[in-house]
Amino acid sequence: MLKFILRTTKKGDIMKEKVCTGCGRKTTNYVTFPCVKCGHEIIRCANCRARALDYTCPNCGTSGP
Ligand SMILES: [Zn+2]
Ligand SMILES: [Zn+2]
Repeated sequence: MLKFILRTTKKGDIMKEKVCTGCGRKTTNYVTFPCVKCGHEIIRCANCRARALDYTCPNCGTSGP
């Protein structure tokens, strides 16, 4: 008999609460990526992602998709 083994998520992989760069709300459901120009960490919550809003880098003012 075959058994399907599901790997649980790594320990200590808990998402920390962060403030969304786009809407300024605290969120634990977000993605982060570096600004294309200065590398500043951009935080985007699920809400902003779903609406495909552009981000504006708080460090250098660059905006992008
Ligand atoms: Zn947001
Ligand atoms: Zn930037």
